[in-house]
Amino acid sequence: MKNALTKLMATRDWILADGATGTNLFNMGLQSGDAPEMWNDQHPERIELLYRQAVDAGSDLFLTNSFGGNAARLKLHGAQGRARELSRISAEIGREVADRQDRPVIVAGSVGPTGEIMAPMGALTHELAVEIFHEQAEGLKEGGADVLWLETISAPEEYKAAAEAFKLAEMPWCGTMSFDTAGRTMMGVTSADMAAMVEKLANPPLAYGANCGVGASDLLRTVLGFVAQGSERPIVAKGNAGIPKYHDGHIHYDGTPALMAEYAVLARDAGATIIGGCCGTMAEHLSMMRAALESRPRGPRPTLDQITDALGPFSSADDGTGEDAAAPRRTRRRRA
Ligand SMILES: [Zn+2]
Repeated sequence: MKNALTKLMATRDWILADGATGTNLFNMGLQSGDAPEMWNDQHPERIELLYRQAVDAGSDLFLTNSFGGNAARLKLHGAQGRARELSRISAEIGREVADRQDRPVIVAGSVGPTGEIMAPMGALTHELAVEIFHEQAEGLKEGGADVLWLETISAPEEYKAAAEAFKLAEMPWCGTMSFDTAGRTMMGVTSADMAAMVEKLANPPLAYGANCGVGASDLLRTVLGFVAQGSERPIVAKGNAGIPKYHDGHIHYDGTPALMAEYAVLARDAGATIIGGCCGTMAEHLSMMRAALESRPRGPRPTLDQITDALGPFSSADDGTGEDAAAPRRTRRRRA
């Protein structure tokens, strides 16, 4: 029995995912410090609009509003008992939007980090992390998610705990990490480390990759890092729309729709299959990304110089995968 995402990937050589959740919800009035997942229950029409905007702009896959919907994160809002329910509702609203379309649209049940540090460095045990992810996974499954979608992970221990939980829920999944610290995750994982880790999991993801992080250029350098490992597993690229800048008291992302269209084409040519945006990526970005992917023929794998020429400089000289991460730029391995 094949799941909807595997079926779709068999017929297409790229899939457009969605853009920002947080940036869009803030535009609809969410206050910083509020749990976005409460809106699944309180303002379902706004969540429906969030999903519909992505689908109308051409997304083949969208993430549910459940990124912080695990018990550990909801505890900060006194709602630790509502993880399963709020996750279920996020997927139910998504299921309705997807089923109304006349083309296949995938509902991906978003699962973000617990926000806690895992043992041995921190207090969260493997067993408890599995339990927390399993509870949320069951809610997303009940609500009708096609796949689970782990994202913005930094620690390999947390990625592994989620993989185990998703096996308990008997759900296919995809999982991305956030490479936001000079090419590595906050916990020091490189693109090469992640590609190797994924292949060793007892319950590997359908697709793996990178989301959020620093900017579109860095994200593509990470994608080239996965490809350099020879992995045949589909790769996910969900980069931010440029770099966050403070402007008049709020955060604004400087990536234009035209820049994100370039990014989408380069992501595909670099080897990514599931391509979307993260923070700052709005419907107008997605529309131009879709148009570019449809109209521009596949090109050769871009070089690092082609990426920076099109999208701007990297945030660090190195992607952290060299033998000596502190080595100067000229000694690092060229990717392309
Ligand atoms: Zn992001």
